Amino acid sequence: MAVREVVKFGDPILRQKMRPVDDFEKLPDLIQDMFDTMYEKEGIGLAANQVGINLNLMVLDIAHTEEMDDPMVCINGTILDSWGETILDEGCLSIPGIRLDIKRAEKVRYAYQDIHGNKFEEEFDGLLAKVIQHETDHLNGKLITDRVSPLKLNQHKKQLEQIVQNNFTV
Ligand SMILES: [Zn+2]
Repeated sequence: MAVREVVKFGDPILRQKMRPVDDFEKLPDLIQDMFDTMYEKEGIGLAANQVGINLNLMVLDIAHTEEMDDPMVCINGTILDSWGETILDEGCLSIPGIRLDIKRAEKVRYAYQDIHGNKFEEEFDGLLAKVIQHETDHLNGKLITDRVSPLKLNQHKKQLEQIVQNNFTV
């Protein structure tokens, strides 16, 4: 078990589409580390590329919110369908200190595999639907900064440049 370094805005792995998982045997250590890292940073979701690993895998836990769901691991996931529209003020562990209003679907139909490779297809709504969409974006190389207007983004230009710069000075 270990808390891993969270990859920050500006790192190329955050812009890549992640490779499908085909070997489920080696995942438990990585998944435990991802949960440790997510809890340490007080996140509710984490994608594998946020700890520098090129695999289509996310961990989620919104249990400390009013929606009492269990922690989830979603592997090789795809959003099959989506309905409705909602706006939530979102943050991202890879973009510290910035929150942006992001428009998302209210409800999604999502296909994924669990840690054993079992296949599921379920509908999610509420906060869980939003976290799934946020992490799915990550696994496709997309960030919340891509989902706001250039004008809005410009308000955070200095902060974003600082995060990119910190990648080279650590
Ligand atoms: Zn994020």
